[in-house]
This record gives sequence, structure tokens and C-alpha cells, in this order.
Amino acid sequence: MQLKFGLCYLAILLACLIAINILPVARCRDMLLKAKSSSLSNQASLIASSLSSLNELQEEEVQQIMELLGDLQLSRVLVTDEAGRIVYDSTGDPVDSMGKYALFAELLVALEGNNVFYAELKDGAISSRAAMPVLNRSGAIGAVYLFEYDTAQAALVEDLRRSLLQISAIACTGAVLISVLLGYLMSRRIRRILDGIHGIGAGRYDTRIQDHGRDELGQIGTEINRLADRLEQNEGVRTRFVSDASHELKTPLAAITLLTDSIVQNDSMDRATIREFVCDIGQEAARLSRVTQKLQELTRIGSKTRERTGAVDLKRVVTEAMKMLRAFGEGKHVELQSSLSEGCVINANSDDIHEVIFNLAENAIKYNRPGGKVMVLLFPRDGNAELLVDDTGEGVPPEKLEHIFDRFYRVDESRTGEQSGSGLGLSIVRDVVEKHGGTVTAQNRPEGGMRFRVCFPLAEEKEEQS
Ligand code: ADP
Repeated sequence: MQLKFGLCYLAILLACLIAINILPVARCRDMLLKAKSSSLSNQASLIASSLSSLNELQEEEVQQIMELLGDLQLSRVLVTDEAGRIVYDSTGDPVDSMGKYALFAELLVALEGNNVFYAELKDGAISSRAAMPVLNRSGAIGAVYLFEYDTAQAALVEDLRRSLLQISAIACTGAVLISVLLGYLMSRRIRRILDGIHGIGAGRYDTRIQDHGRDELGQIGTEINRLADRLEQNEGVRTRFVSDASHELKTPLAAITLLTDSIVQNDSMDRATIREFVCDIGQEAARLSRVTQKLQELTRIGSKTRERTGAVDLKRVVTEAMKMLRAFGEGKHVELQSSLSEGCVINANSDDIHEVIFNLAENAIKYNRPGGKVMVLLFPRDGNAELLVDDTGEGVPPEKLEHIFDRFYRVDESRTGEQSGSGLGLSIVRDVVEKHGGTVTAQNRPEGGMRFRVCFPLAEEKEEQS
């Protein structure tokens, strides 16, 4: 990753450096050459027009006119007659050049009546040349050739090129250092996140990513940590649930094994004892079946699959649950009473709510005394639907009240022993109520017995789920 980042930065950097080094120098050079060409062509036309007053180009007359024009600050000025013979040479060496033929290509072109201008930057100097015919009424009477060799301005271009190179080298070093540092920091953070993900993936749910940055990487770290929190919680719940459940299943299974072993190993066991043991086995099997059924319900409630929810009229659900429990109440000699208000509609899953009401009312009958009563009240209050399930039983010792919603908790095995139960009913109640955004509390009534209070937020629209 770091290598990829580094190479990417480097490629961008190189492209920028090339652009910075080549473009300005090329532009500056072009401007200088253009300026040179045009100044040389101006001077050439000045000389040519000054000489055009002569009938023919003679050395003395040309010399006089050139002296009148003064110092032109050029490396060399040549004037030739129409045959190309040199009649003036600013280098001033008559022995060398005067009377000889100038064989510059530019001059030959100029003698044919054309203008020639060009400049080039080569070997640390700007060489510029201009050639122009000298024209009078009778046509071309000769030509002017100017040559300039300028190292000062070429040095300027060279200076600019060198300065740009130095700046580039400094910028390049800085950028490389910064990019290496940034790349290292970035890849270190990504590595930390990856290590965290690997740890969590390997089942180490206490792994957390230590990245407090506020950028996207920091946010990824925070989200992964949140996920790990949830996984850790779920894992805790799952482990506790599995160990509780296996413990609960172990006891009746051990009893069944013990009872069957006793029957199998004792040939002389009388029919009445065998019958009693088989009844016990049946009871244990029934208990097992109840526990597994409740466990299934718990898993259903705990699972995240979206269930169908809609407006549920609590009065209807309470009435149905009470109807189903009537026979159970009569068997226990417990009277069922209810006072149910209209308009308690909540947004929920109807089966879940039935489960809550059924469990609470069933407990109220189960832990009641013969001749006792169960009162179920339903009314709206402060935007909530409130459900009270009161009984006239023994209640729960205050110090144990806080545990009755725990999984597999039964207040007093010796006291509740004769009542069938799994210790899962109230934990199912709490899970369902909380899943629907409600609350459930339990308290002992001053007049004896228990009161369970359930609150659900009322639904906004009151159309009932079918
Ligand atoms: P169980 O299957 O044992 O009824 P629950 O989770 O429904 O399991 O209840 C947990 C324990 O709380 C019960 O074993 C019982 O001791 C106590 N309990 C629940 N409801 C009542 C009640 N209405 N009156 C007295 N004790 C109760």
C-alpha cells in the first residue's frame, strides 16, 4: 500500500517538475529569440534604407554612411555590392575581407531580393542573423548582412533554467520526504484497522481499534469498534444462554437416566414403584419439553429477523388470553377478573403481546392460593397503555424481586417446586416488552400478592393488525 501511494505521488511529482522546468524556459527562450529577430530586422532595414540613396555601393560612400549611423552594437555588419563583393565589414579588417566575395547563404538569398531573419540559442549564446537587399529605383544594388552573437541574454535563460532546477530539487526532496511520511502514517493506520478486523474475525471480540482520527479511517475504526461491542455482548449472551440452557436440560435428563436405570437394574421392583417411577419420568419429560419450547420462543424473540408488526388492540389480546386461562384458573380455584379500557392500541407483534399477557396471568394463577383472585387492569395513561396484573398469592421476598426476570431463575425451588415452570417465562416477558419499547416492573402489593406493571407506548394510528 505504502509503495503504491509512494509511486503515485512520485509520478504526479515528476509530471509537475517536468512541466515546471521545461515550459517557462522554453517560453522565455522563444520570447528572447523573437525580440532578437525583430530588433535585428529593424536595424537591417535602417541600414538598407540609408544605403538605398546611393546609385551604387562604393566602399568610401558606404563607409561614410555607416559612420553616420554610429555604433550599432552588433557583432558584425557586412555590406556587399550587387555581385556579393564586400564593400563594408564592421569587423574592420580590410585586408581580410574587403573586396572579397561574401559567401553567406543569407546574403545570397538577400541579393535575390528576399529578407532573411533568424535567431537560435546554441552553445550558451544567442546567434542571430539578418540579411536584406539594398534597393533603389534601379533594383537591388547590394545587400546588408547583420550578425549578432549574444552571450549575456543566453546566460539569463541559463540562469532561469538553473534556478528552476534548484527549486525543483528542493521541492522534490521535500515532497518525497512528506509523501514517504504520509504514506507511512496512512499505511500504519490501515494496518492497525486490518489487525483489528483480523482479531475480531478470529473470535477475539475484545479487540478494539486504537484510532482516534476524525477522518474516514477514524470513522471506520469507530464503526468496527461498535460492531465489536455488539458482537462481544451477543457472544456473552450466547455463552450464558447456552450454559444456562444446557444446565437446565441436564437436570431432568439426569433424573430420567437415574429413574430408567433403577427400573432396568431392579428385577424385583413391584408394579406400583415401577408405575411411580414411570410417572416421574413422564413429568421430567414434560418439563424438558416445556423448557425446550420456551427456549425456542426466546431464540425467536432474540433473533433479528423482522416480524410482522402492526396496530394491536390490547383489550382484544387480554380478553383472548384470559379466555384461554379460565379453565386453568378454575382448576386452581382462582377467580379471574378484568377491567379493560378501549383505545389501548399499540404498534407490536400480536403473538408476542399474547405471550406477555399469557405468561403474567398464568403466573398470577399458578403462584396464587386456592380461593384467590387475579385482577387484570388495562387503561391508557400519559401516551402509554398500562397493564396491571395483580394477584393475591404470597408475592416474592423483596431481596429476590430483582432476579425474577433473569433466565432460569425460580424464587424458591422448595416453594415453587410443586408448580411446573422453567424459570424462563418472565425473561421472555421482559425481552418482548423491551423489544417493543415498553417497560415491565414487579412489586409486592401492600395488601399481599404481586403486581406486574407493563407499559407500552400507544400507537399513533389506531387501525388494528388483522
Ligand atoms: P416459572 O416458569 O418458574 O414460572 P417465571 O420466569 O415465569 O418462571 O417466573 C420466575 C419466578 O418468579 C417463578 O419461579 C416464581 O418464583 C416467581 N413468580 C413469578 N410470578 C409470580 C407471582 N405472580 N407471584 C409470586 N411469584 C412469582
